[in-house]
Amino acid sequence: MPLFCDVALAVPLDMVFTYAIPLGMEPVVGGRVLVPFRQQRMSGIVVELHDRPPQVKTKKVIEALDLSPVLDEHLLKLGKWIADYYLAPVGEVFRTMLPLSAEFKRSIAYRITDEGRMALHLAGMSGSPARSKRTPEQQLVEFRVLDYLAERESVRAENLRGTTRVGKALLAGMVRKRWIAREDVSAARDAARLVKVAVLIGAEAAEASPPLDPSTSLRAGSRGARPHTSSAKKLNENQRTLIETLAASGGRVPVEALRGLDVPRTTLGTLVRRGMIGLVDEPQDFTASGVKLSKLKPRPSPFEFEFSAAQKEALAKIGAAVGSRKFGGLLLHGITGSGKTAVYLACMREVLEQGRSSILLVPEIGLTPAVAADLHQVFGDEVAILHSGLSDAERAEQWHRIRRGEARVVAGTRSAVFAPVSDLALVIVDEEQDSSYKQEETPRYHARDVAVMRAKMAGAVVVLGSATPSLESYYNAKKNKYALVELPDRVEMRPLPEVEIVDMRQEFQETGQEQVISRKLAEEIRERLEKKEQVMVLLNRRGYSPVVLCRACGKTLQCKNCAVSMTHHKRERKMECHYCGHVEHIPDKCAHCGSEYVYFVGTGSEKLEELLHGMFPQARIGRLDRDTVRGREDFERALNALNEGALDMLVGTQMIAKGHDIHGVTLVGVVGADMALGLPDFRAAERTFQLLTQVAGRAGRGQSPGKVVLQTYFQEHYAVQFAARHDFAGFYEKELQFRAWMHYPPYSAIANVLIRSEKLDEALTWSGELGRWFEKTRHEGIRVLGPAAAPITRLKRDYRYHFILKSPSREKMNALLRAMLAEAAARKIPRTQVIVDVDAVWLM
Ligand code: ADP
Ligand code: ZN
Ligand code: ZN
Repeated sequence: MPLFCDVALAVPLDMVFTYAIPLGMEPVVGGRVLVPFRQQRMSGIVVELHDRPPQVKTKKVIEALDLSPVLDEHLLKLGKWIADYYLAPVGEVFRTMLPLSAEFKRSIAYRITDEGRMALHLAGMSGSPARSKRTPEQQLVEFRVLDYLAERESVRAENLRGTTRVGKALLAGMVRKRWIAREDVSAARDAARLVKVAVLIGAEAAEASPPLDPSTSLRAGSRGARPHTSSAKKLNENQRTLIETLAASGGRVPVEALRGLDVPRTTLGTLVRRGMIGLVDEPQDFTASGVKLSKLKPRPSPFEFEFSAAQKEALAKIGAAVGSRKFGGLLLHGITGSGKTAVYLACMREVLEQGRSSILLVPEIGLTPAVAADLHQVFGDEVAILHSGLSDAERAEQWHRIRRGEARVVAGTRSAVFAPVSDLALVIVDEEQDSSYKQEETPRYHARDVAVMRAKMAGAVVVLGSATPSLESYYNAKKNKYALVELPDRVEMRPLPEVEIVDMRQEFQETGQEQVISRKLAEEIRERLEKKEQVMVLLNRRGYSPVVLCRACGKTLQCKNCAVSMTHHKRERKMECHYCGHVEHIPDKCAHCGSEYVYFVGTGSEKLEELLHGMFPQARIGRLDRDTVRGREDFERALNALNEGALDMLVGTQMIAKGHDIHGVTLVGVVGADMALGLPDFRAAERTFQLLTQVAGRAGRGQSPGKVVLQTYFQEHYAVQFAARHDFAGFYEKELQFRAWMHYPPYSAIANVLIRSEKLDEALTWSGELGRWFEKTRHEGIRVLGPAAAPITRLKRDYRYHFILKSPSREKMNALLRAMLAEAAARKIPRTQVIVDVDAVWLM
């Protein structure tokens, strides 16, 4: 065994750490080890085993946590690529790749012993425990602990202290008395969490229960071991219930699930003693936890219909690429409602039939219950669904299922790109332009680009799908880096909706006041409601009013942590900052001058809903935004209601714009979606075009054709004009020209370097120092802009200055960034205060 190992730790330092390997310990490359780091124990990933003694004295590895790698060769390589490309500490990259944070912590757990049970029992009889040096209060706490543990298998120390308020000394005393036992829960080992499962054995089962179907009785007979007790002994009612339940469920049921029956706990024990039921430890089966089975009424199977010619062709092209077993990239450009999802599912099914694996990435908002239901319908238990609603433990379970090869189809958001599948054949990135694929914290990776790299390394095929591809992907397809596959028509030749633009400046002139809902939109809504058709209205801003303005001094109410306005939330009676979450009371006078003339200005989705209620009192209106949707269930409920016709109108932010396939919607009103056009962000036009196209795509997906009323203050803007004409190619050509002139992606690589500090003078000094360093460093072929105050100059208490780097050569740009980080380190600027965002999608 080598003497040393290099370990990547999740700390903000661009290096790995060398530890000595104690005799007899066998860490593996790609496996986790527990090591001392500063005053803590941390787990990290072994990246290399070697015999080169380091310069400094090394500490020893405490424990090797894995016998085999948790990151295989491919994923290790991918992780190193990410660290390099995005200039992120490799240990932080690995932490992101492994959803095992729940397992990273070691913790102590306690369980009650037989002596403890006895003590509890005696106390219960006599009212006071025997011979004790403790005060009555201490005794009380001790019994509270015993009582709590008696009901449970084993309880983690934090939970036990939290619930019983027991102190450390008292706990230690109870351990000495052997009332309780302490155990070290090395989580790596309880990773595949075991659960007790009751298994039906013996012939009684068959006699006692209703006729079993052959598959379940198989297990009953095959055990061979005869029960110890006489089969003549009759079962009581409780025992019968248990046995019948077991029999009806295929002969095995987790003990926990049996607790739901109205049967005393002792019954199970009795049956176990009589040898009729066995108890075994089995890895928890999480097939059901990935998805709450959708309450949507089942959609027709995704394969009930005949594929269109374009769908067939797309399927054939992707299938051929997969068959070649070489890397290949395809851009699937399919207009809204062209049936992309069905193509994805069919491709993934083919891959599964070949015994290989596939990964489907969907945007945060794209993993709707309907999509989950489709996946389950097609793949049953072979699919693992990774969504943001999973707890750490559930995520870890899914990860283990995938690694064991039980789930070879994986669907999920951003981090699903790291799913530990073997023999990867296909990665699909749905809505590849979606900004939720970019992680806005270290490591700031873009899951679409990582997907392409992963496919490259695995010799797999990557499919990027979208109705509105990103400029980058469209450009790559034009340059033949990806094969372009088009679905140019809606399924069953349904037409795209007609789009009518309403110029809101003109509306203002004609009506003499600022309107939220134009006369045209109001009229169209009324018409649809009369025809019992459904309406969606988009306003991409949540809350009631986005600005509170003082008429006396002209100041607005700003967040105390950020340089942005606080938003008024009427129903929740508060002011909230949408950037940091800070909440304040609704002001009745101005914070600056004390004047009472404070006005609430502008409209958010909450106010829009109220206005529409006022205009259409009979209509049933729902709202979908981050205030009404707290969890997946709310989301599901609202969409469900619309789908089933329980709602006439759905109002909301961009949440309503993406992916939903609701056939009754014939009108989409866009009240506000062009605010971004006023922002200093070079992607504003692209985002606006995409959002408008997506939301327009919700109309007319059923039998009746759809219509879109698009209200705008920027009616001449090409993003608005091209979206209204459904002219994708036109928009892309124009936008590419602009990007080329301005040296923006896809013509240049771009990076945003943000310097932040809670202290203004620090932020200024640091950015000044780095600015001077950039000035005197030679960097041919790289433009460095800045330092400048970031558009949002203060965010979450930090003052922010930034540089923007642009270069046609990514290698050169990254080399300069690396040198800049070294300079920052030499100047003792903390690494956490210098944020390097390569391929930044958000320059605010
Ligand atoms: P997209 O993702 O391209 O917007 P979807 O995949 O959601 O489109 O498909 C839109 C609708 O058309 C879905 O209800 C889907 O079941 C249905 N569909 C897909 N392919 C066909 C087809 N060949 N014939 C009829 N309906 C189809
Ligand atoms: Zn004022
Ligand atoms: Zn704030």
